[in-house]
Amino acid sequence: MSDIPHNSPTIKGMYIEGSWTPAARTFDDLNPSDNTLYARIPDCTAADVQRAVDAAQAAFPAWSALAHHTRAHYLHKIADVWERRGADFAAAAVAEGGGWFGKGMFEAGYVAEVFRSAAALCYMNTGEVLPSEHGKFMTATRWPLGVVSVISPWNMPGILTSRGFAAALAAGNTVVLKPSEDTPYSGGLYFAEILEEAGIPAGVFNVVTCSRESVGAVGDAMIENPRVKAVSFTGSTAVGRHIAAKAGAHLKKACVELGGKDSMIVLEDADIDAAARAANFGSFMHQGQVCMSTEKLLVHEKVYDEFMQKFLTRAAKLRTGHTNDKNNVIGPLVNNRQALRVKALIDDAVAKGATVLLGGKSWDNFVEPTVLADVNESMDIWHDETFGPVVIVRRFSTDEEAIALNNDTEYGLTAAVWTRDEARALRMAGHLETGICHVNCQNINDEPHVPFGGVKASGVGRYGGRWSLDSFTELRWITLDRGGRHFPPVF
Ligand code: NAD
Repeated sequence: MSDIPHNSPTIKGMYIEGSWTPAARTFDDLNPSDNTLYARIPDCTAADVQRAVDAAQAAFPAWSALAHHTRAHYLHKIADVWERRGADFAAAAVAEGGGWFGKGMFEAGYVAEVFRSAAALCYMNTGEVLPSEHGKFMTATRWPLGVVSVISPWNMPGILTSRGFAAALAAGNTVVLKPSEDTPYSGGLYFAEILEEAGIPAGVFNVVTCSRESVGAVGDAMIENPRVKAVSFTGSTAVGRHIAAKAGAHLKKACVELGGKDSMIVLEDADIDAAARAANFGSFMHQGQVCMSTEKLLVHEKVYDEFMQKFLTRAAKLRTGHTNDKNNVIGPLVNNRQALRVKALIDDAVAKGATVLLGGKSWDNFVEPTVLADVNESMDIWHDETFGPVVIVRRFSTDEEAIALNNDTEYGLTAAVWTRDEARALRMAGHLETGICHVNCQNINDEPHVPFGGVKASGVGRYGGRWSLDSFTELRWITLDRGGRHFPPVF
């Protein structure tokens, strides 16, 4: 009898050139709520990547030559199929990724919009006509690159995978996707099922999957292959640095969206009830495993006690446990490695004098929502991305101090500022070293058509809207001479 649960998906293989193909080996994909087997996944090699890249290259001329509206229609079809199967995605994200049911449903809804906004891009790939000293007709136009390698993370396997490739397809590129080894189905093979059903031509979209042990060789093959023209990566800063450096060495484009250590700043004139509610979501949604999670709460000393009382009361109500139970809003961390890392950060802080205001307990892959005060720069948790259900709190007394505390990190993804004075908030936003700043909201915000991305160690490049065309097209200067160009008579 199979040891794979009856509600697990049938894994048909990797998806290369429109066919499902097995790999020589498989690896185990676990449900992090109880470490039971969820699925057996193909563990590919560099040779499989080569086949996928070859297939994508072969499909490129026809896909890039399609009329823009035909590609848009394909993207709408993907959105429609995705929407119809939304419940399947949510179930997979819960069991494979350890997310709360509500988070899975939210992702399922969002991804359809990623494809619809990518369809809109097909109509927006416009060029410019430039003036010429020589009377030429000169254009600057965007051209597809060719094969794009996409490497995605596990924390939002639907949103971050779709965001990684939808605009690339819209611009006329073809794709080889490698999802995270923690969500190889919901972040990879599930997409192959959807795009196959939507009738995307063979080779335009390929999915290879591999284990953490194989990812070094597989990742290198996805970047170094000369037919690959660009890399689209979302994940940790450590891996992103490696990928951007390798892409740079091969003179390839790389859009890398990386980690964060994001602050929410609560000024003394804020709506404290609303701020406390937002902070609870920003800190603990999906166990804090979001690149934009609120990891530092910076609270003005005049409202610190009132804010903390309201925030802790709300956070204390969040239930932690197996994602089978929809009342458990806080599920497990994605794997044991992550759980141990988060526990170590809490232990280091407490050993150096931090006070646990809430939570602090952990078991198996679970960590309770945890709030730490009396934190300082000597603690690892002040600097390192926690990526867990843990938030640190600091008081401040001036706007300048809050700005300095926010900026005291290598990261720069998002910031949030709470105040009733919008002019003051905008002044502060100008000094916060982040790619994104939200006033009177928490940090976790994204929409498919906005320029999403960080500064400093949080990444290079932007996903979303027309800005993603910078990542997935080449801007070319093409001229028509109409007899105006003169040369020295000696020639
Ligand atoms: P990770 O960097 O460990 O893995 C990301 C992807 O890279 C996975 O597919 C993994 O298999 C692959 N990978 C690992 N080593 C590789 C190598 N040597 N070559 C090629 N590929 C390799 O990150 P993760 O744990 O999956 O995700 C969590 C991290 O992602 C956090 O740091 C989080 O902040 C970040 N993140 C950033 C954003 C953003 O938009 N800025 C969004 C979500 C997550």
